[in-house]
Amino acid sequence: LFVVFEGGEGAGKSTQVTALAQRLRRQGREVIVTREPGATEVGQRIRGLVLDGPTGAQALSPRAEALLYAADRAQHVATVVRPALGRGAVVISDRYVDSSLAYQGAGRTLPVDEVSWLSSWATGGLKPDLVVLLDVDPATGLARVAARGAGTDFVESEALDFHERVRYAFLDLAASDPKRYLVLDASRPVDQIGSVIGGRIETLLSD
Ligand code: C5P
Repeated sequence: LFVVFEGGEGAGKSTQVTALAQRLRRQGREVIVTREPGATEVGQRIRGLVLDGPTGAQALSPRAEALLYAADRAQHVATVVRPALGRGAVVISDRYVDSSLAYQGAGRTLPVDEVSWLSSWATGGLKPDLVVLLDVDPATGLARVAARGAGTDFVESEALDFHERVRYAFLDLAASDPKRYLVLDASRPVDQIGSVIGGRIETLLSD
């Protein structure tokens, strides 16, 4: 089973990923928790480039950025995700293809169909069984991130626009394929969110 968590900054993805992994491990299942970008050695180097690369005139162009995320994903799928799925483990990934459609597509305004094609080439067409979208209003999410002591430079009007586009891109993706998505309001209490996710996963595992 391949489960992906998506959502904007400060949506609480990592908290829910950890909770779900614990729940499934208590049932004796093998669970691989992973993320993008940066789950592999190559991915760690790419993560450094995309999140902490040059600025100003030397900054990554949107297309170069999209290719780097695609390379991270190709390596991730080939060396982590497919092998784990192949031996029957549950794979839980913090971000996957939809993050590229939302951030590189809607956010950086690259054509979404091209970014989508690039991702399906990178992954050989591997799709998640379920995408959990933790939906958060960007002002709230960014304030949460700032409160935990990182990302304060995000809180300015142009960046907020970017995050609004990202949010609506995630919601549109979910609306276009409702069976594959579980959309949850990230402002609900952590335990409530966790039990809705847990319930949905149990159903998938018992099918
Ligand atoms: O999920 P995490 O906070 O580790 O993601 C790091 C950052 O990478 C995100 O805040 C997002 O801005 C960026 N990102 C991106 N495109 C992706 C994946 C992540 O811009 N495909």
